[in-house]
Amino acid sequence: MKVSFLIFCCTVAVYAHSQSHSHRTERSLKFPDIAGYKTMKCDLHQHTVFSDGNVWPNIRVQESLKDGLDAISLTEHLEYQPHKADIPHPDRNRSYELALTEAKSHNLIIIRGSEITRSMPPGHSNAIFIEDANKLLISDSIQVFQEAKRQKAFTFWNHPSWIRQRPNGIATLTDMHRRLIKDKLLDGIEVVNEHTYSDEALQIALDNNLTIMGTSDIHGLIDWEHNVPHGHRPITLVFAKEANAEAIHEGLSNRRTVALHNNLLIGRDEFLVPLVEASLKVDTAFYADKSDVLTLVIRNLTSIEFTLQNRSGYTLHEHSDLVTVQPGEKETINVKTVKRLPNVSLKFEVLNAINAPNRHPVITLKGKMQ
Ligand code: ZN
Repeated sequence: MKVSFLIFCCTVAVYAHSQSHSHRTERSLKFPDIAGYKTMKCDLHQHTVFSDGNVWPNIRVQESLKDGLDAISLTEHLEYQPHKADIPHPDRNRSYELALTEAKSHNLIIIRGSEITRSMPPGHSNAIFIEDANKLLISDSIQVFQEAKRQKAFTFWNHPSWIRQRPNGIATLTDMHRRLIKDKLLDGIEVVNEHTYSDEALQIALDNNLTIMGTSDIHGLIDWEHNVPHGHRPITLVFAKEANAEAIHEGLSNRRTVALHNNLLIGRDEFLVPLVEASLKVDTAFYADKSDVLTLVIRNLTSIEFTLQNRSGYTLHEHSDLVTVQPGEKETINVKTVKRLPNVSLKFEVLNAINAPNRHPVITLKGKMQ
């Protein structure tokens, strides 16, 4: 009885270890810039007491500063106001204004946004970079998107696989969505929302040329919801020409994003490959005396764990084909290159990244020999 209990405990411990981010000690999210672009860390779907969230807007700003974010949007439900009796809310821009005041002396961009809250179709959507949230209080579901676009908003479909609106969890386009996309009223789709990831939403994004989004849709506290610092919130990485709101808007409109969900990166190869290649660097590469086995030290510059599958054509001396590189750490691998190589150029499939359902990008680790 005692023995089996022990075995059970060990199994649970090992499983829990492999599922958690146990090597992550610092909470700030880190991702490098890529050639030509700043990598902007954005959480563009959040709630406060000004709709159905549980905190004042200043807390959202403070959490985001702790997480090292570059931009946020407090997207209160326009139509769903459960705290209205306690917090009368005639001006739907108040949440934004309070966050703006809180962020004034900090390097955090606050983007004005709202959540258009409808039954399916079209479900819930966010309009961000709007001018006036009050003008979006329009009952017709097409007209509200037209008004958002008149305000030059960027719009995206929220949690398309939400069980309450899609009992089978399968994100599915309706005729109304097709019309919104055709009329250029809908720009993006959440592939990641809170704790969920959707293969079907990713396929919809790829088929309809929509921007791939990942957001926390936080209502409570980020720390409690995502077990910070071991875990972290989902975000959208936006590749922007400059570090300002206009450049983030331009980057989103041109679909230059990668969504983050736990250790998973989701995006188009065009941005995913440069991001991973900037994230994993060859720290050291050399052949020891009298050895034709290459010692390669890989450094992970990000705050997430990478899992690589060897596609170099060579075998490894200590690892199988799988190599894990912990956040902010170095990992040494020994590659049996048979003959000495003049420089490093080795291919790996990135198992914690996807560019389409069930498909992982392949990157090349490049570096000079010492
Ligand atoms: Zn929401």
